[in-house]
Amino acid sequence: MIKNSKCLFLFFIISILFLNGCNTLKSRKENLINNCLEPVQNYNAGRSVKGKKINYTKLGSGQNITLLFASIHGSERAAVPLLNHFQEYLIENCNLLNGNTVIIVPVVNPDGLEKKTRYNSNQIDLNRNFPADNRINNNRNGRFALSEPESYILYKIVNMYKPSRVIAFHEALNCIDYDGPADELAKRLADKCKLPLHKVGAQPGSFGSYVGLELNIPIITVEFSKEDSKKSESQLWHDYKDLLLESISY
Ligand SMILES: [Zn+2]
Repeated sequence: MIKNSKCLFLFFIISILFLNGCNTLKSRKENLINNCLEPVQNYNAGRSVKGKKINYTKLGSGQNITLLFASIHGSERAAVPLLNHFQEYLIENCNLLNGNTVIIVPVVNPDGLEKKTRYNSNQIDLNRNFPADNRINNNRNGRFALSEPESYILYKIVNMYKPSRVIAFHEALNCIDYDGPADELAKRLADKCKLPLHKVGAQPGSFGSYVGLELNIPIITVEFSKEDSKKSESQLWHDYKDLLLESISY
């Protein structure tokens, strides 16, 4: 009986410590958001084929709007923690949001991310599913443009906010690629990291083709190197912090 009481007491103490730990973590982020003079809003933009939420965060309210997203190809995952880190950094240093709006979609293809595959759950390459002139309809690209909920969500976001520029993260072609009127921006961002500037060329029905060529919005594709794809969040932050900060203040 005494032994049972001791166990119960120990369980009670551990539970209190655990709950306090969670509350401390939660309140730290809430405090940061509360202390930030700029608005920070989290949104759910819809769901994947398998019903997973696709969320994004809008930070700031300025006219200079940057949209950043990662993991439209689920097997390309390195930038997901990097963008989450960047989001927290902006909340902590919210003077950087002055005059700027930053929209971050950390995961466009959550089903692919879970399965570590390039495609979504319908085996479609989402980055070939956009309504660009160069689109090719087939079983891999989708039978028609925006046939997939994930690509439709990104299409909705870019048309709702009409960003000044878009930064997309991919792996592992080891370069800064671009579409649309982005020559100067691409040079500037290549100067801020080790990736060389290299124009890969428009891919059929890609988001780059749609945004750059149809909407005429500058879009940069940051193609991490193979080594980058194995780096920790802190290493990537060290290597790409300057590029991220330049992208929102350009
Ligand atoms: Zn990719």
